[in-house]
Amino acid sequence: MAADGEGVGLFRTEFLFMDRDAIPTEDEQFEAYQQAALTLKGKGLIIRTLDIGGDKEIPYLGLEKEENPFMGFRAIRYCLKNKDMFKSQIKAILRASAFGDVRIMFPLITAVEELREGKALVEECKAELKEAGVDFNDDIPVGVMTETAASGVIADLLAKEADFFSIGTNDLTGYTMAADRGNSDVAYLYSPFQPSVLRMIKSIIENGRAADIPVGMCGEAAADPKMIPLLISFGLTEFSVSAPSVLKVRGTIAKWTKDEADKVADKVMRMTTEAEVLEYLDSVV
Ligand code: PEP
Ligand code: MG
Repeated sequence: MAADGEGVGLFRTEFLFMDRDAIPTEDEQFEAYQQAALTLKGKGLIIRTLDIGGDKEIPYLGLEKEENPFMGFRAIRYCLKNKDMFKSQIKAILRASAFGDVRIMFPLITAVEELREGKALVEECKAELKEAGVDFNDDIPVGVMTETAASGVIADLLAKEADFFSIGTNDLTGYTMAADRGNSDVAYLYSPFQPSVLRMIKSIIENGRAADIPVGMCGEAAADPKMIPLLISFGLTEFSVSAPSVLKVRGTIAKWTKDEADKVADKVMRMTTEAEVLEYLDSVV
């Protein structure tokens, strides 16, 4: 609010689970979500359901060591297999939705079935809350974080069943390039300006728009001045950035007309290498 943001595009609920030795209860979570909703005074609050595993460890959950944690049991995959814990989080979010414009977002979706299963649990939680006479927003939007190559490729299918998309470029870059974001030996491949990642981003935005759902971006790339003209041209409507970047990003967005951004994007999308893309973007921003 102090940075004049128009809402919160990514409430990372994993922080509520870290630095403690047991799962936070439904009430504890509700208090945190409610407080955020009240603080935002009606501005949008996108709460991402628990995103653990991969590079995010929570010792007390007892996740087994995996050979390939980024390909493994994490985020929505873990939650769908731990339904009690997942349902208590969903209920906490639903209860907070009585106090503001709260939306639910599932991380790491790779298949329509996962979205359907998650939405079915939301409906189950609603029924139980109704039964208990607890208030919530029955029309709470349920969105998908598009951050895997799979979700990018089936964005048209997901868009039919999701209320919104938010592009997570941190993971999308890694999963598209098959390059671990924490491994410096492959850092040269880990770039959202790779033609493959740019095509993925463009296609997700276009498919979301075609289905008439809002498409935002909550990965770090949303705050990159070189990425911003491309996102404007592709039709992104929500930029979710860290609080200190809000005014800077708004300033950068304001510098571009749609026509100018389109010209830049047309050129970039015909380029072959990341180096070429970056050299050109450096010359125009
Ligand atoms: C992302 O993947 O782009 C993202 C915003 O989530 P995280 O960095 O928490 O994986
Ligand atoms: Mg991610």
